[in-house]
Amino acid sequence: MSNPSKPNIVILGSGMAAWGAYDRVTEAGLTPTVYDAREVPGGHTASYRLDNGFVFDDGPHISFSAIDQVKNLFAESVDQEYVAFTAYVDNYYEGHWVEHPAVVNLKGLPEPLVNKVLDDFRAVHGQEPGPINNYLDWLVATYGRTYAEKFPAVYGKKYHTCEAVDMNTDWLGPRLYQPDLDEVVAGATSDTSADAHYIKEFRYPKKGGFQSYLDKFFERANPNLGHEATSIDPKAKTVTFGNGTVVEYDELISSVPLPLLVPMVEGAPADVIEASKKLSCSQCVLVNIGVDREDLSPAHWRYIYDLDLDAVRLSFPHMFSPEVVPPGHGAVQVEVYFSDKYRPFDGNTDAVVQTVIGNLKHMGVLREDENIVFSEGRWVPWANVIFDLDTNPALAKVHPFLDEAGITYCGRYGDWAYIWTDESYMSGHNAATKLLG
Ligand SMILES: Cc1cc2nc3c(=O)[nH]c(=O)nc-3n(C[C@H](O)[C@H](O)[C@H](O)COP(=O)(O)OP(=O)(O)OC[C@H]3O[C@@H](n4cnc5c(N)ncnc54)[C@H](O)[C@@H]3O)c2cc1C
Repeated sequence: MSNPSKPNIVILGSGMAAWGAYDRVTEAGLTPTVYDAREVPGGHTASYRLDNGFVFDDGPHISFSAIDQVKNLFAESVDQEYVAFTAYVDNYYEGHWVEHPAVVNLKGLPEPLVNKVLDDFRAVHGQEPGPINNYLDWLVATYGRTYAEKFPAVYGKKYHTCEAVDMNTDWLGPRLYQPDLDEVVAGATSDTSADAHYIKEFRYPKKGGFQSYLDKFFERANPNLGHEATSIDPKAKTVTFGNGTVVEYDELISSVPLPLLVPMVEGAPADVIEASKKLSCSQCVLVNIGVDREDLSPAHWRYIYDLDLDAVRLSFPHMFSPEVVPPGHGAVQVEVYFSDKYRPFDGNTDAVVQTVIGNLKHMGVLREDENIVFSEGRWVPWANVIFDLDTNPALAKVHPFLDEAGITYCGRYGDWAYIWTDESYMSGHNAATKLLG
């Protein structure tokens, strides 16, 4: 170590986890150096501020944090210039729009389906569940077979790209509401709407998209962009980048996705590299559309259950901030998911854009003669960790190897967890705390 009291700390990535790590390291009086592969900083929290007046985030991003430290940090980062919303969310199912979560808002769906959902829910409610070996088992035990198979299992296949039977349940957290029988019956027979989404309130910057929360961090950290780490020598403590730069480090903090990170570590054993390849993550084509009207949706975001529609989730950026569209315009961002393992992408982004426009017209979100003033498809190579049954055995090899190599990992794709912006920030912060002792 060049100077033990001033270790040279290198951070890979410039998104939320990197921000958390950077803050913790600078709190300790040290100055880390930040590198990112991309030409734009921020990872998933980048916003694309286009010349035509539209701003699209790298996937729909809102802040619904319950962590005071992050709430305050975000508010200060935009000089309190944010707007707070009460979330309104709904679902599309075979021609019907129902509020979210559908299980407690069944009224309006076809009666035979509702009755079957109720019968099956009654059959499992209050019963001791059988063995839960996968996500499908959990869904059936929680909701009964009809709701399980027609709603969350189908949505899960669209979102995670694999069957519920192929997934574990480690990622669930508060994501799926578990109602009691009275709530389900009330939602099926009356217009009473249970306020049961795990996101009730959220905040969004007044201007500039979600990235506005990070702009001051970028100014402070001044990340070295266009620096894609390609090789790490944990013995010599060097990182080599694709552009030929080689840097030394005393400590390395990485938010790089594990399947990329592990193979670049010199001397990584074949079985650990093999394990890292078994970690699956979804990829996304984001379809961003701008139109010359604002009244696109009553809901901030909408889940689409039908398997024959590729659109998975719709969100409406102009409802988060009117500053992210030209005056009098509206925008919709649509996620369509793929994965190398379960639903490989053929690379034809334009075809996805056209399919999505067709889906939106089919659902009545866009009009047949809609004046679409802007559309694009944007490829997101790392989206959501897929918690399939290979995940835990693979992580049990990968994380200890990195610990042994002295590489501190963090963030959504370092921890390999279904975590949000606030948790990714804390992951980076905690990783740096551990490293600093
Ligand atoms: C579609 C979608 C919607 C989401 N919506 C929300 C939301 O509404 N609210 C919320 O709180 N969270 C949301 N999230 C989660 C949130 O985006 C993540 O938790 C968080 O941004 C992850 O931050 P990170 O720093 O861990 O990863 P990233 O943001 O992915 O940062 C990793 C960085 O590492 C860089 N990198 C990769 N490889 C290399 C390399 N070889 N060398 C150097 N750099 C490299 C990348 O370029 C990237 O900048 C969403 C995620 C997705 C995918």
